[in-house]
Parts: sequence; C-alpha cells; structure tokens
Amino acid sequence: MRKPIVLGNWKLNGTPAASDALVASILAGMASLDAVDIGVCPPCVLIPQAVHQTTGTHLAVGAQNCSEFVTGAYTGEVSADMLREVGCRYVLVGHSERRALFGETNEIAARKVHIALKSGLTPVLCVGETLEERESGQMNTVVEGQIQAVLNEVGIELFARLVIAYEPIWAIGTGLTATPAQAQAMHAMIRGVLGAQSPAVARAVRIQYGGSVKADNAAQLFAEPDIDGGLIGGASLKAEDFLVICRAAADSSR
Ligand code: PEP
Repeated sequence: MRKPIVLGNWKLNGTPAASDALVASILAGMASLDAVDIGVCPPCVLIPQAVHQTTGTHLAVGAQNCSEFVTGAYTGEVSADMLREVGCRYVLVGHSERRALFGETNEIAARKVHIALKSGLTPVLCVGETLEERESGQMNTVVEGQIQAVLNEVGIELFARLVIAYEPIWAIGTGLTATPAQAQAMHAMIRGVLGAQSPAVARAVRIQYGGSVKADNAAQLFAEPDIDGGLIGGASLKAEDFLVICRAAADSSR
C-alpha cells in the first residue's frame, strides 16, 4: 500500500508574515491526517523559518528547485546539500514552469534528480505534456521521454526513492483539470514504463497528480488506483482548501 503524499507548491508567493500564518493554519488542522504525507514548498528564502516552525510536526518542507551543481561559481544558485542542511525533505525537479521559462531540459532535470538523491533529499520529478502534444497523440511519448532521461541518469533502483508528479501543462494554473480517467491512464502508463524494468519499484513509487486540483475535485482524482495524492499550486495558498485536499488523500488510502 502506497501512502499518499500532498505537497503545496507556493511558487513565487509569500512574505515572512504570510508564510508564518499559512503554516500555522495548516498545522492547526493537521491533527488527524497521519495517513497522508504532507509538505509545503515555499520560496527559498522562507524555507528556514518554515523548517523552524514545523520542527517536531508531521508537516515537511520542500524546495521548488535546486542547482544541478554541487558548489562553485554559479551565481544565484542554491544547492541540494544546502537545502538538505537547512531541513528540507523534498525538492521539486523539472516543474513545467522551470522547463518552459528557464530552459530546464530532460537532461538537466535528470542531473538535478541525481544530485538531490545524493544529498538525501526526495526529488519530486514533475512530468507532463502540453495541450498540443496531447491533441496530437504524442503525450505518452513525451512523458515517457521525461521519465527515461532520469532512468538513464540514476537507474531503476534509485527511482524507488523518487516521487513523481504527473502534471499536464494545460491543467496547471488554468482551472482545467484532467479527468480522473485521463490522469489514471497516464499514471498507469508511467507505472508501466517503470514496471518493464522493475515491477517492485513500479508498485512502490508514488505518483501524484497536479493541475488545478481543488477542494472540490481532489477526492475523485485520488480515488483512482494509481494516483497517490497531489502536487497543489493555487489551492495550497489557502490553508482551508489545502487541508480539504489532504483529507481527501488520507481518505483515499483507506
Ligand atoms: C503546480 O504548480 O504544480 C500546480 C499544479 O499548480 P495549480 O494547482 O495551480 O494548477
């Protein structure tokens, strides 16, 4: 049985005061949510205060990105080791906004996954297709290529330590959501790609769905057998909505 995982991707939102209030509200509503792993991914500068606030609780902290380099003359970068040392547990890798806006290729994402694993972080590998790719029937090839690049870099055994987030790009921040059947089909496809190399890893790896998950659609999505929780953008900025989504994930594991 895979434990569902729900992560909030705050993107470029939040101030120290707003972060403090949001984390406090999430913590206040988490008492009976042990059946789901929950985390928040604030902007980098807010990570230390979130870690401080959540120490000793069941709320984990993640980062939205890390450098593909370990150390050196890379102005503006933050390394996986640094994130781990300040208390992060997760790091998002290859989010579609990083791929589209910051030139992150499959190969760069693969190197980031590898470096995150070496530092002891759990990488959350984000994959997904554009609307054009879906409409032209290339969606499986595109997502398989994104997975394959990481398999080539780290191998199947280390894949067991990843979380995968399937996020159709056309559903991110748009209010459009993949239907539960569309999402389930892609999650099963991803599990099939991994299963061809290791059925055990395929069974164990958690695959989140992301893309306009809201309080009112989470339960239907999480009811699908291969959907193990969600990566939540907009709805993670409101504690009340985020907690309803976490509750839906917890209920799906029963
Ligand atoms: C995301 O940023 O990963 C995401 C899924 O955003 P939203 O929930 O706002 O679509």
